[in-house]
Amino acid sequence: MDEVFGGSFTQQEPIPEAGIAAAVAVMRHGRLHRYNTVGDEIAETVLLEQEFAAYVGAKYCLAVASGGYAMATALRAVGVKPSDRVLTNAFTLAPVPGAIAAVGAVPVFVGVTRSLVLDLEDLAAKADQGSVLLLSHMRGHLCDMERLMEICDAAGITVIEDCAHTMGAAWKGKPSGTWGKVGCYSCQTYKHMNSGEGGLFVTDDAEVAARAIMYSGSYMLYERHLAGPPKETFETIRFETPNISGRMDNLRAAILRPQLEDLATQCTRWNERYLTLETGLRGAAGLTVIERQEQETFVGSSIQFLLEDWQAADVQMLVGRCAARGVELKWFGNAEPVGFTSRYDSWRYVDAPAMPQSDRVLAGIIDMRVPLTFSLDDCAMIARIIREEAERISTPAT
Ligand SMILES: *Cc1c(COP(=O)(O)O)cnc(C)c1O
Repeated sequence: MDEVFGGSFTQQEPIPEAGIAAAVAVMRHGRLHRYNTVGDEIAETVLLEQEFAAYVGAKYCLAVASGGYAMATALRAVGVKPSDRVLTNAFTLAPVPGAIAAVGAVPVFVGVTRSLVLDLEDLAAKADQGSVLLLSHMRGHLCDMERLMEICDAAGITVIEDCAHTMGAAWKGKPSGTWGKVGCYSCQTYKHMNSGEGGLFVTDDAEVAARAIMYSGSYMLYERHLAGPPKETFETIRFETPNISGRMDNLRAAILRPQLEDLATQCTRWNERYLTLETGLRGAAGLTVIERQEQETFVGSSIQFLLEDWQAADVQMLVGRCAARGVELKWFGNAEPVGFTSRYDSWRYVDAPAMPQSDRVLAGIIDMRVPLTFSLDDCAMIARIIREEAERISTPAT
């Protein structure tokens, strides 16, 4: 009898009790808006910003409505204008080109390597095609950040990091989100902290921080941002920056603060699960695990492997057979986007030239979420199921 896995790939852990209690307290006093405080009360949103800035080691932090909002705000705050071209990853999720489109700019896609990171040779070749790079650390894979910054610095490219999958990750010990000008994070349910929706924006640049605060809809209450720049920074910025509301509220911040306290522990738990899966999959027929770099501190909240040069029908058979045994794999090689598995040629509002080398990689990418509700035994079983099915397809019974 074949084993069948019974867990849910979309079930996250509950909000910690401390977060539930803090959320109830906010609801009881009713001051959910970040600027609605009494006396010398400091809003939950402001406290979250201070704590997150300290966590990543950034000077300034702004809590916003979503990761997508953080990215669009970052693009505006560094001066991207309608019809500007913005470099970004061919392998990422829809909110990334969407943030570029939201400011009226035009994505220029940079390829993906077999290690699932941005192709730095392709970046160097396209460095004259945009003055901003929205770099997505897609699925938590970090490219050589020193080399990337060298290329971008030499070409005068401003880097904005999409850290939706790298909250808690680092390259050579330096946190993801602090290499470029701005780091953007998502607190949507499937990321590393869960407030349903939400985003965080970090930078060391006072003017960029001031613009972001004004964009997010601070009325003229920017002095209440304790993780914001000094008030002199706003002197002219406050008159020049439109209000494009996208603030976070105190209820979400209350839920997130205890999760930030637990984040390091959670990252360790994700990696235990990731390594169990990786060990179980390594060496399976026809399947390539993604080797991690020693400079990379990653958070294994999802796992990817490659089915290199497999026939589409065989990939679909593997995905189907695993699904029949309770294991949900997502395939980025599908001709059409399914769920979240879109890629550069799915975004037809962009006129993107074909990228044959990236297409070859994308055609083989299999992706799987690793919720913390899975035990290590669950992960071992999932790996056994994938391995068995991959082996059955590679060596068909006669
Ligand atoms: C989730 C995600 C975002 C941000 O998403 P929001 O839903 O807007 O918070 C950005 N980039 C990637 C790669 C993501 O997966």
